[in-house]
Amino acid sequence: MSDYTFAAPPVVSLMSMSAKPYPVRRIFCVGQNYKEHAKEMGGNPDVDPPFFFMKPASAILQNGEVMPYPPGTSNLHHEVELVVAMAMGGRDIPPEKVNDMIFGYAVGLDMTKRDVQNEARKKGRPWEMSKAFDFSAPCSSITPGMYTGAMAKGRIQCKVNGELRQDADLSDMIWGVPQIVHHLSRQVEVCPGDLIFTGTPAGVGPVVKGDKLEATIAGLEPLLIEIG
Ligand code: MN
Repeated sequence: MSDYTFAAPPVVSLMSMSAKPYPVRRIFCVGQNYKEHAKEMGGNPDVDPPFFFMKPASAILQNGEVMPYPPGTSNLHHEVELVVAMAMGGRDIPPEKVNDMIFGYAVGLDMTKRDVQNEARKKGRPWEMSKAFDFSAPCSSITPGMYTGAMAKGRIQCKVNGELRQDADLSDMIWGVPQIVHHLSRQVEVCPGDLIFTGTPAGVGPVVKGDKLEATIAGLEPLLIEIG
């Protein structure tokens, strides 16, 4: 091939209460940010600083859509998470400046191929193929921060076929949103359009084809997807 004919990739965006769709730039995710989940994953929440991994913007699955069961796994897990949508960015952002730089909040599911992740952990390999696969980031529309306040507390839950699997409070997070963005901005330049998945509480578990997932956080639009 000496030439190409394809167009530049489309901008992935999320709906919000604003008149304009919110364009997604990158997706950062925090690992093990609730004590009980860190323990169920074999981590030590008392000594570990926050750590990050990423998914591509193209991994977004819109609210209400069917998530195709991904190839290469037989242990697909749900992880309900508070998602932060940045309106502004910067480097070395002080925690006390963070809340004024946030556009809003959403409910996300950090879908994970747990068998692939466990194998990567065992071999000291990267996590991408377990975390950053197609449709791995279902996300609700964004509620602007002017309506929600700072989202430091509030019920966070995930139900599968109506059965409660995850049930915690945002106040159980080890690192709150201001600290998360502060730490992230010391490693990369945080940019407008960046989404940050802030970690999941205990109770993660497998889903199969036909399951209906209902992920909720008090004050935000519920995220409803089906595994297809
Ligand atoms: Mn997660």
